Amino acid sequence: MDLGISGKRAIVTASSKGLGLGCARALAEAGVHLVMNARGGDALEEAAKAIRADFGVEVTTVAGDITEEAQRDEIMQAIRAQGGADILVTNAGGPPPGMWTDWERDDFIKALDANMLTPIALMKAHLPGMMDKGWGRVVNITSMSVKAPNPVLGLSNSARTGLTGYVAGTSRQVAPHGVTINNLLPGIHATDRAVSLDQGAAKAQGVTPDEAKTQRAAGIPARRYGTAEEFGQTCAFMCSVHAGYMVGQNILLDGGAVTSTM
Ligand code: NAP
Repeated sequence: MDLGISGKRAIVTASSKGLGLGCARALAEAGVHLVMNARGGDALEEAAKAIRADFGVEVTTVAGDITEEAQRDEIMQAIRAQGGADILVTNAGGPPPGMWTDWERDDFIKALDANMLTPIALMKAHLPGMMDKGWGRVVNITSMSVKAPNPVLGLSNSARTGLTGYVAGTSRQVAPHGVTINNLLPGIHATDRAVSLDQGAAKAQGVTPDEAKTQRAAGIPARRYGTAEEFGQTCAFMCSVHAGYMVGQNILLDGGAVTSTM
């Protein structure tokens, strides 16, 4: 399917690996030029080089922590020089697992910064330009935890639910300007993050990480973890011309793990 977005410009934050990279690659495959970001410069440059070689699009890299205002300003300068963003995919690392008794105010502030206030700051910075153009797409990578909380991910459950509430209202305010905002909710996907959660589950249950992975996959109706590639393709569709009537939605990609009728 032609997604109709060839030549558009996207910012994809936290995109040197995993789900962010899956989204960046799928957008590049659709002909979208990219501004990519991650803290580690080497992996970021490697990912950007592969995308340029595979898809022939322009890729600008901005290495640094997306939770810091200076990095977001640098991204703004880079994309402004290219005529502004048409597409914004927000992503950042997820908070660590734990028990409700573990978390103090500072832990919540960190989680809120990464998984709620940073995507909000990015949207606040780039929505006006999209609204001026009369066209824009925002996809926030959140988590299935906003529909079905994972008890050990209390920091994530809290911060992402806040972002979800913000998107529910804001998406209706910008929709009249041709700009859509939606959230993409990963269930378990085979990335570094999943490996580290497998290790946490293994430790808690006294089993090996492989056994923990097998157990976690067995609990998913699809009987496997998702891939960054299929996640990226859904993200690219949500950024396409065909998704213009999708507003304020929470799209779950979880292999059927969340059991609910709607
Ligand atoms: P991942 O494989 O660990 O990749 C994270 C990516 O984000 C890397 O490129 C990392 O590069 C970058 N990053 C992390 N923190 C950053 C920061 N502060 N500033 C800039 N870049 C940053 O993670 P993932 O599995 O793709 O997960 C992406 C998001 O989806 C996370 O928020 C995660 O909690 C959520 N999620 C994942 C799953 C899953 O099963 N994979 C399920 C539900 C929700 P650097 O480390 O070099 O910065």
